[in-house]
Amino acid sequence: MGGEPGRVAVVGNGPVGQTTALLLARWGVPVLVLEAAPHRDPVGSKAICQQRDVLDVWETIGVGARLAAEGVTWTTARTFFRDAELFSYTIADPGRAFFPPFVNISQARTEELLDERIAAEPRIEVRWGHRVTALEQDAGGVRLVCATDRGEAEFAARYAVLCAGARAESLRARLGVTFDGQSFDDRFLICDIRADLPGWASERRFYFDPVWNPGRQVLIHPCPDSRFRIDWQVPADYDLAAEEESGALDRRIRDIIGDSAYEIIWKSVYRFQSRVASRLRVGRVLLAGDAAHLMSPFGARGLNSGVADAENAAWKLAFACHGWAGEDLLESYHHERHAAARENLEITTATMDFLVPQDERQWERRRSVLERAVTDPSARGEVDSGRLAEPFWYVDSPLTTPDPGRPFAGRPPRGAAPAAGPGVLVPDVPFATGRFRELARDGLLLLATPGTDPAAARDALAGFAGPARLLELGADGELCTALGARDGELWIIRPDAHVAAVLTRPARDQVAAALARVLAIPTPKEETRDHTVGRAG
Ligand SMILES: Cc1cc2nc3c(=O)[nH]c(=O)nc-3n(C[C@H](O)[C@H](O)[C@H](O)COP(=O)(O)OP(=O)(O)OC[C@H]3O[C@@H](n4cnc5c(N)ncnc54)[C@H](O)[C@@H]3O)c2cc1C
Repeated sequence: MGGEPGRVAVVGNGPVGQTTALLLARWGVPVLVLEAAPHRDPVGSKAICQQRDVLDVWETIGVGARLAAEGVTWTTARTFFRDAELFSYTIADPGRAFFPPFVNISQARTEELLDERIAAEPRIEVRWGHRVTALEQDAGGVRLVCATDRGEAEFAARYAVLCAGARAESLRARLGVTFDGQSFDDRFLICDIRADLPGWASERRFYFDPVWNPGRQVLIHPCPDSRFRIDWQVPADYDLAAEEESGALDRRIRDIIGDSAYEIIWKSVYRFQSRVASRLRVGRVLLAGDAAHLMSPFGARGLNSGVADAENAAWKLAFACHGWAGEDLLESYHHERHAAARENLEITTATMDFLVPQDERQWERRRSVLERAVTDPSARGEVDSGRLAEPFWYVDSPLTTPDPGRPFAGRPPRGAAPAAGPGVLVPDVPFATGRFRELARDGLLLLATPGTDPAAARDALAGFAGPARLLELGADGELCTALGARDGELWIIRPDAHVAAVLTRPARDQVAAALARVLAIPTPKEETRDHTVGRAG
């Protein structure tokens, strides 16, 4: 079959497809985006809540700072039970981050800004009105068959990323991928309203059992332009049209905002699911975003994790396309992002079990936890109003070299970040004339602290054909402090700014082994120990 050399096809021009395309183009890879819809239809809004590290990824493709400037920044999450405030927390920053912890902005605006960047990117071709109906692959590439207004069209690419969202079942099925999980019975009414409510403008508020939604909960998020998202849990037989007609919807809103004037911008009723695809890599095809996993939005983990999929997929596909690594690197995409999806599902399903108890035992536990939490601070940790999105830690990844001196302490408390170490996303700090993470995202980055022999690292890197940089940290205190780096260490940072290895006074072979590992190249055997690293593909 023979795909066009180097070209990657992205199926679906939603925010995950857009981000994947732009990141691939940033790595110099030509991209063909195939989208079923005839044009962008910015009606309604799904995601509003974007996490700091995701804004950071978007900044590499030119939209992070714009989203942050246009969006509403919030740092505090408050949780109430009836009229008592149970707790509030602010989100920690392990370094000196460029972005605030969370920015609320509509998914429609995010997509619009990403479209502008795509229009300015000559390496990306977008074909609207192209519904992919079949994906076939062989050793040479991928063939994509599309249904269009003018009949069937076919395209070839070297690799493909399936970002076709929740309704990708027929394409998943063609790839032999199942989408196991569950749907939740209760439904959620979401209204975006415009109103003047100054006291509500910079906090996320979560109410359990408020008098205006007894036995259920309400979540309120501030958004730009005096908009607020109100999200009510409603019964399975809830009827929005009947509520509108009877005036009950107006009363529902007035119960919360009082007499203030308001306008409904958008409303919808959702039922949520928890599902993950059985494989996120099938040969030359990777699955990303909602095509790969679905979860309830409590914790804002859907699009935020989709962007992390996009970043993980893009650097690996780019390294394979350029011949800087072999195709084995692609298998680590499944390993890492499937683990991330499972973690997200575990967290969001636990939240849903607390919000929508499945049986009397869960109801009883919820009642007891909430009642105790009013007076007993030790019960507050059990109140689950959603654990907010955070980057996944590739601690058990085949690309990560473990460091026995830095064991991973497990999932940190709500709002906290784990200490930097193998698998963890590096904290950001100002560095030289820019930011440390910007530098990290340019390729492989090796950091030698004082007391490390940089020659060993330089030597091991010499055979790698891709972008790589070795920095001797000298006396740069702030970066070493943020990382917790000690003298005599060599840190290897991946192109997605996660730590691949921390080696103590390593010899050349140890550096070579860690580099081979992060590129998924089989570790050199004894007799081939003097081979250089990285000339795969
Ligand atoms: C109410 C609600 C609130 C949410 N809030 C948040 C939040 O605050 N934060 C957060 O991170 N996430 C949130 N999410 C989740 C977020 O909206 C999704 O994770 C996100 O839309 C996924 O993007 P995607 O690009 O993977 O899929 P989609 O946005 O579904 O895009 C898929 C695209 O693929 C196209 N397509 C489909 N089939 C084909 C085909 N065969 N060929 C070509 N094109 C095709 C579609 O037309 C579409 O354009 C929320 C979701 C909901 C429902």
